[in-house]
Amino acid sequence: MSIALRALLFRRTSEPSAIVVDFDGEVFPVRLRRHQRARRYTLRIHATTREVVLTLPPRGSLKQAREFAQKHGAWIAARLQRLPDAAPFAHGTVLPLRGVDHRIEHRRSARGTVWIETGETIEPLLCVAGQAPHIPRRLRDFLKREAKRDLEAASHAAAQALGVSIKRVAIRDPSSRWGSCSTTGVLSYSWRLILAPPYVLDYLAAHEVAHLVEMNHSRAFWRLVDRICPHMTRAKTWLGAHGAELHRYGLQGD
Ligand SMILES: [Zn+2]
Repeated sequence: MSIALRALLFRRTSEPSAIVVDFDGEVFPVRLRRHQRARRYTLRIHATTREVVLTLPPRGSLKQAREFAQKHGAWIAARLQRLPDAAPFAHGTVLPLRGVDHRIEHRRSARGTVWIETGETIEPLLCVAGQAPHIPRRLRDFLKREAKRDLEAASHAAAQALGVSIKRVAIRDPSSRWGSCSTTGVLSYSWRLILAPPYVLDYLAAHEVAHLVEMNHSRAFWRLVDRICPHMTRAKTWLGAHGAELHRYGLQGD
């Protein structure tokens, strides 16, 4: 058999990485993902990226994948509609810095990077200098710095109240939790806490620092948090009601 013929016969046609689903006059892209251990077709929606992902079993066919996705068109549309809208880091977006609405204002030819301007009649402005494509990175850097400053202060205060010492505060962007604590004393937090009211950020710091004493969520742990954080219940309620919303900031939208 010639190499050309062999190639033709055994060529695995390359699969598209995404398909589209039509529903009610709207078109939804669906990313395809083959998974070794998948037993059936499953659809998942990532709340933070708004991405729809269809997982196929190893021997699943593209045709069945399309049918499966199309059959769940109503579900996809409903789920996406319930997600909060993306609030991109761009001119005009309103963003709650420390729980207070600020409007992003692009000042292309101004000097500097990011600064806050408070007027008397309108909401405070979060001004960003430079070219438009740099706005997201500049804002993200600014918010991370602000988050780090507040979280370091709150963590040190909590550590002092509990008589423990912390090694380092790291700022990240995890999608599923607000903070974590290592046995070595490194605390890491989501920068998005800078968007929440300060009592929420304080609660998270108290929570993570208390883990340096109690590495669990026992009753003793909660008593400890309650002792150093008077707003514990209020903060937990706030996070339950609004926490997911914080993930829409900085998304680029569609
Ligand atoms: Zn915890």
